[in-house]
Amino acid sequence: MSEKEKTAGEKLAEELFYKAENIAKKAPEQVEEAAAFCEGYKNFLNKAKTEREFVSEAIAMLEANGYVPFVAGKVYQAGDKVYKNNRGKALIATTIGQKPLTEGIRLNIAHIDSPRVDLKPNPLYEKDDLALFKTHYYGGIRKYQWPTVPLAMHGVLIKEDGEKVEVVIGEKEGDPVFCITDLLPHLAAQQSQRPLKDAFSGEDLNIVIGSLPFVDESVKEPVKLMAMKLMHDELGITEKDFLRAEIEFVPAYKACDVGFDRSIVGAYGQDDKVCAYTALAAEVGEENPTWTTMTVLADKEEIGSTGNTGLNSNFVEYFIQYLAEMAGVNDKEVLEHSICLSADVNAAYDPTYPQVHEPMNACYFNKGCVLTKYTGARGKSGTNDAGAELMAKVIKIMDDAGVYWQSGELGAVDVGGGGTVAKFVAEFNIDVVDLGVPILSMHAPFELASKLDIYNTYKAFAAFIK
Ligand code: MN
Ligand code: MN
Repeated sequence: MSEKEKTAGEKLAEELFYKAENIAKKAPEQVEEAAAFCEGYKNFLNKAKTEREFVSEAIAMLEANGYVPFVAGKVYQAGDKVYKNNRGKALIATTIGQKPLTEGIRLNIAHIDSPRVDLKPNPLYEKDDLALFKTHYYGGIRKYQWPTVPLAMHGVLIKEDGEKVEVVIGEKEGDPVFCITDLLPHLAAQQSQRPLKDAFSGEDLNIVIGSLPFVDESVKEPVKLMAMKLMHDELGITEKDFLRAEIEFVPAYKACDVGFDRSIVGAYGQDDKVCAYTALAAEVGEENPTWTTMTVLADKEEIGSTGNTGLNSNFVEYFIQYLAEMAGVNDKEVLEHSICLSADVNAAYDPTYPQVHEPMNACYFNKGCVLTKYTGARGKSGTNDAGAELMAKVIKIMDDAGVYWQSGELGAVDVGGGGTVAKFVAEFNIDVVDLGVPILSMHAPFELASKLDIYNTYKAFAAFIK
């Protein structure tokens, strides 16, 4: 059957209306390309579940691609590739561009921390013949999602003599895992009466770590002692070392494909490691950028970008000052002419929960990376709200490069809201807008992202820093 002639109205509508397209329909060849790209992504995720692990893996990737540690005061030439490690938890990678620094820097800023369950400084206890850890959750978790999930222990402890002990237990085949318990439905009638937000208290998120006692009638806490003895045997640590530690519990399972068609990546921590990985892949792939690039992997976004490894500190600004000094130019001029993609995820439209979205302005799986003009809550409060001129610039970059993209809002008006690092970047006097991957079940222990969207986000970042 031949394609039927378009009517005048159809032609006019095509010319005047805008609609983001499904990539699988418009560019089916990308399905395989995206799947291949996401194999690298899943492998990386499996080795980098925490911000510290992400920094280590990113440095390995950077060094394999010719990046060397940044030296303040040294003069760099176009094409030089350097990185700056901020305390093992945040990272800046830069490729010096052809244009003078006064014409600005192209920044991609993603965050590498994700919601999780942290140990308290004094975590270990025994109760009713079980050994447990007390925790303090990190970031915006829905507490009911975390019990009964197999958890792995990640992090560092510093011993009295200064030795750093790096811990990863629960990831290797045959490793034990750990778990927060939940009530059985038979006995949960009372708990089920409570509103969801009150059903689980933060102090209920206790992790079971053992049940066998150290057999000695004279010991008061034999199960705690047994657990501590095993940790001492394995890691050489004592209870006091937890006071010099950062221990995080994260889901123990690996990234995998979701769906009969394998079109989706399911994994813990895709917010925002999906943007961190795609930004990093774009950075290492760019040999000779027009403008100097800066790919920033920040910590602490999930708790407000606080701390000196979070974006609400001066580490990015200081790095730009070093670059400006090296080039003999005023850093304020550099900042003013720089543009930044705040590389972060947005909430994908969920057909099971349509009521929280406004369908015309939600983002969808398989329509590409999502450009988010503003986030915020209650009348855009707390948002950066990118200007029309910057929107025009970023849209042109993506259209010229053939990137599939869509626009997105974080939920319908007054349903909720949120924020990203964008508002902190704006404080540097840099033009910034959010761009990233649509996510289903954001902040859950298992988040979903479309491979086509991940791939096109990578393409967008690559085009942006070309
Ligand atoms: Mn995020
Ligand atoms: Mn988040």
